[in-house]
Amino acid sequence: MRELRRLHEEISRLDERAAREADPARRRRLEERARHLKSRRYRKIRGVVKDVVGEIIKLAREHQAAIVVDTMEEESYRELKEGDGSGVRKHFLDGLGQLRRRLQALAQWYGLPYLEERLYSTVCPRCGAEMEEERRRVMRCPVCGFSDHRDNVPLIWAKRRYWELLQKTKQPAFSASILLLTS
Ligand SMILES: [Zn+2]
Repeated sequence: MRELRRLHEEISRLDERAAREADPARRRRLEERARHLKSRRYRKIRGVVKDVVGEIIKLAREHQAAIVVDTMEEESYRELKEGDGSGVRKHFLDGLGQLRRRLQALAQWYGLPYLEERLYSTVCPRCGAEMEEERRRVMRCPVCGFSDHRDNVPLIWAKRRYWELLQKTKQPAFSASILLLTS
């Protein structure tokens, strides 16, 4: 991620300099350099996606696990993507999109149960009520009293979705392992 950020920054610097440069030959050189770095960034993101997906698939196959991806609402995804001037986030989110597509394709190929699902961190996994932040990062349900760390709530949802998925696919060989990919 650090290297990607560095690449992004260098590319925007080059783009800005090229836009200001009056001399055509010098401008061309700057543009070429930026293009070169852009294709490096593209290859870099593709490489990271390949590695990460490979690792997740390997773990899922070893543990006979289902893969549940915690997705974002389409709307917040767009907002995130557009609300960032530098474009760093846009490339990161594009990479996440690639990752999801590749993960889904490979899961299908290996016959691993795969599910994309919005996993809530503010909805009570016990009774479905809206939870409140009791203290920093700790959520509490005002209805049934259930309380847990904010990061654990999506995991509980993932587990629940996992059992639902098992029932749907009827694959009793799959154990209770869960691989959770949070975006
Ligand atoms: Zn509750």
